[in-house]
Amino acid sequence: MTGLLGPSEVRMIAARLGVQPTKKLGQNFVIDPNTVRRIVRLAGVQAGERVVEIGPGLGSLTLGILESGAEVVAVEIDDRLGAELPATVREMAGDDAAARLDVRIADAMVVTELPDPVRLVANLPYNVSVPVLLHFLEHFPSIRSGVVMVQAEVGERIAAGPGSKAYGSPSVKAAWYGDFSIAGRVSRQIFWPVPNVDSVLVGFTRREEPRGDEELRRRVFGLVDAAFGQRRKMLRQALAGVLGSSDQAVAVLENAGIEPTARGEILVIDDFIRIARAQLNVR
Ligand code: SAM
Repeated sequence: MTGLLGPSEVRMIAARLGVQPTKKLGQNFVIDPNTVRRIVRLAGVQAGERVVEIGPGLGSLTLGILESGAEVVAVEIDDRLGAELPATVREMAGDDAAARLDVRIADAMVVTELPDPVRLVANLPYNVSVPVLLHFLEHFPSIRSGVVMVQAEVGERIAAGPGSKAYGSPSVKAAWYGDFSIAGRVSRQIFWPVPNVDSVLVGFTRREEPRGDEELRRRVFGLVDAAFGQRRKMLRQALAGVLGSSDQAVAVLENAGIEPTARGEILVIDDFIRIARAQLNVR
């Protein structure tokens, strides 16, 4: 008895609830206590701090975070799973752990108010992993660091640097908030049901100082979407729509000190910020 969920406990709780994991909600549950402890250790979870978990599911990772003595705010969209979580935690880890758990049954994509978490630890639903991660970084500035498990290709995109094939809009948007890197790989055998993709752990630390205000962020993200939406095109063409015209794009790019014939895939977050600022000068 580890106090964490292994394969038989996961299947037993699912059977008790009559739950068939659904692909639509990315329901692949972790059945390996070693992986859970690895994630919690990599995230550096401390006793007494508040951790937010997106998609607690049957509670595999939740129990691991609680084991470290932290408080957990867990946001789960599936009401059958969310409603059962406190009973699972009480049964597996006792009343003290259950008292440190706060379950919110909600769509994490639209949650904007939670008691301030300092860390994010999650096995993210794969179909919405990037938007839900960016949503939490945007709406919960109290989150200083975290570890998320995502599909390998998605993790590589988030952590990629310019010049690599994986570099794209998720890499630049993530870099707006902080430093992201691949912290480890995870076998698909540690899930039930076994997914047909590999997974990685992505660790991040938020920047001390925000890069700019909400208006600048929106403009930068608009430029990033345009640049990578047509990544084989030269910037003066790719940004023509968002900057008004091809001539306007050339003027803005020159003002920002960026070659209008370059492609978006060589630009780093600071370049996009310079373009967004130049947009105001050239108007
Ligand atoms: N944390 C559990 C684990 O590691 O075993 C479950 C992880 S499973 C990959 C993803 C979880 O996210 C599922 O429980 C699913 O119901 C939940 N989920 C999916 N979409 C969600 C959303 N938009 N908001 C909140 N939870 C969501």
